[in-house]
Amino acid sequence: MIPLKRRNCPECGGKMIPRLINLLYKKENCEIQAEVIGIPANVCTKCFYRIIPGKIAKYIDSLVDPIFEAETAQKEKILPSPHIGIQFPPAEGESYYYEI
Ligand SMILES: [Zn+2]
Repeated sequence: MIPLKRRNCPECGGKMIPRLINLLYKKENCEIQAEVIGIPANVCTKCFYRIIPGKIAKYIDSLVDPIFEAETAQKEKILPSPHIGIQFPPAEGESYYYEI
């Protein structure tokens, strides 16, 4: 599991807290959208700027990229583009979190 680093907001200097966030992944020229639920991130309490740790962002990219590639490579439209949902279960204990 990946611990979040305690840090201040790079945009406004505000305090950041660990939160699970949801993101919609899209690619240009691809109709598929992937909704990713339960991503651990640092969220600014003032301006809501969000930082996803690099390792987590890379991992999610490695999950969704092959789906986008498969759709883009599809020459014949066989079915309407599906809805893709990826949901991470809540981490056990303090795996993602630091003490505030
Ligand atoms: Zn901020």
